Amino acid sequence: MSYLDPVSSGILLLWFTVLGACVGSFLNVVIYRMPLGKSLSHPPSHCPQCGHAIRWYDNVPVLGWLWLRGKCRDCHTPINIRYPFVEGVGGLVFGTITYLTLQQAGDSPLLEFCVFVLSLSGLVLTFFAAIFIKMDGQKIPIRLIVAMGVLGALAFLLFRLYFVPASTTLG
Ligand SMILES: [Zn+2]
Repeated sequence: MSYLDPVSSGILLLWFTVLGACVGSFLNVVIYRMPLGKSLSHPPSHCPQCGHAIRWYDNVPVLGWLWLRGKCRDCHTPINIRYPFVEGVGGLVFGTITYLTLQQAGDSPLLEFCVFVLSLSGLVLTFFAAIFIKMDGQKIPIRLIVAMGVLGALAFLLFRLYFVPASTTLG
């Protein structure tokens, strides 16, 4: 059975959209910590006001912000709407690229499909992170530019398999 049948492609679309929202959540950390040269994994996410760690069940992308009504559970300091916004954009970018690629996937192997969706979505989101870092008045970290290069190269290599008509592909 192909991953292109309606049920499998629907599951794939949902799965990649949720993954994208989680990537968006990580992107918030990248935007905030990377230009400052801080570790991306330590310390775990915490409220900048009261320092309490964010509980795993409140750390669900977009939804966590909604059920906390945009406030820290401990000190009730408002949480910037930018966090759920970046998470939502992550889900939207992954979901849209998955959807568009599914329309073009033909009989391409699932692994190739996943690598393409992940690299192109990742590329779009690293650009997005770079814009936010610039808006914060910070320099774009070299690590982010390297990530862009790697994701861009992967996406470029696979792009023509999906989005260039067969007659115009080279050799
Ligand atoms: Zn707090």
